[in-house]
Amino acid sequence: MSKKYLYLNLIFNVMNKRNLMIILSFFFVFISFVIRIIGSLLTGNIALIIESLHIFMDVFITLTILIVIKIIYSKQSMKFPYGLFKLEDMVSFILAIIIIYFSFELIFNNNYHNISGMTVSSIFELISVIPLVFSSIYKIKASRLFNSPSLKNDGIHTFADIVEGLFVSIGLYLTNYFGVISYYFSIMIAFIALIVTSYLIGKNAILSLLDLPHDPNLKIKMMGLLKNVKEIKNVKDIRFRWAGPSVFVEIVVEMDPRLTIDEAHPITENIENMLKNNIEGIYSVTVHVEPVKRNDFKVLIPLSNENINSEIDSQLGRANYYAIFEIKGESIKYDIRKNNLISKENLVGVDFIKFLLDENVTDVICKNVGDIIYGLLVSRDIYCWYFDGKNAEEAIKMLIENKLKKFKIQ
Ligand SMILES: [Zn+2]
Repeated sequence: MSKKYLYLNLIFNVMNKRNLMIILSFFFVFISFVIRIIGSLLTGNIALIIESLHIFMDVFITLTILIVIKIIYSKQSMKFPYGLFKLEDMVSFILAIIIIYFSFELIFNNNYHNISGMTVSSIFELISVIPLVFSSIYKIKASRLFNSPSLKNDGIHTFADIVEGLFVSIGLYLTNYFGVISYYFSIMIAFIALIVTSYLIGKNAILSLLDLPHDPNLKIKMMGLLKNVKEIKNVKDIRFRWAGPSVFVEIVVEMDPRLTIDEAHPITENIENMLKNNIEGIYSVTVHVEPVKRNDFKVLIPLSNENINSEIDSQLGRANYYAIFEIKGESIKYDIRKNNLISKENLVGVDFIKFLLDENVTDVICKNVGDIIYGLLVSRDIYCWYFDGKNAEEAIKMLIENKLKKFKIQ
């Protein structure tokens, strides 16, 4: 390995890829600046002087963006709850304003009467565009590695400068043949190109700064993902906050009111991870859980006698009677049945569950439950509530008011 190669290799290793790209993008902008400045000094062409100033401003803009990126990802800014991501939007916004300023500068402060040295100026302008192509490519590549939209916007801006530079160059050249008119025309096109760039850069920045939605499809995409979460009964609200490259999400979902905090918490955590994994740029997800209102449910309570006021039977599968309450909104009806399984010798659990499924029972309230029946209830999504009072109607009242606790078998 030659010494020179070793040296180069060392440089590549020491600097990480993204920093190298930034340095290259600066290098090419600087080359472009030097070409324009030399052209300006040789010809005194006002258009070239303004174009040199433009490049000078561009270097300043890129430097500002890099400083902002450094600040955003510093430990200090990570201490803020929403980071300092909006600094990027501020820079993009200022960038958009600067471009508008230069666009008008180009239009109104050009000395159209000084049309000498047009061919030489045109050649200088044309050559100065070539390094801008490389600079634009490196900026966009680096923006991906930095995950920075303002750097990407800067790359797009440089790309627009290429188009603009070409038009200025053509305009300068054609002035030799068509006079001032061709110059006006080319500069107008360059002007429009710059305004469009400014709009592209400024639009998302303003939306972020005002907390307005960037992308209406994101809500639709998120709704689709949330639909796959079986515990979510209804998505009440989704809110986004865009800040630089990051999106902060707040969602309000309705879940079964019978879920305890212990049960709901891992579900919300799964929702957070699922959204982060499926949608790019999500920085944080906050899930608010609200209970969905249950309108219809059917509740079984074991009774010791064929009377609604009789004591709740301490057995479930082998209770004497069952009270089956049908609750539909405000209306509560009940029905008392004799337990036909009481005489059965074994495997009462399986028949009992079959009975519950046939009756479409959604909840069971009891004093005791055996391991086998409990397991079968859980597997069939039938909720099992603990109640140690005496009266079935009181138990129903407590269930509706969400005051009962679920059975837990360790
Ligand atoms: Zn520019």
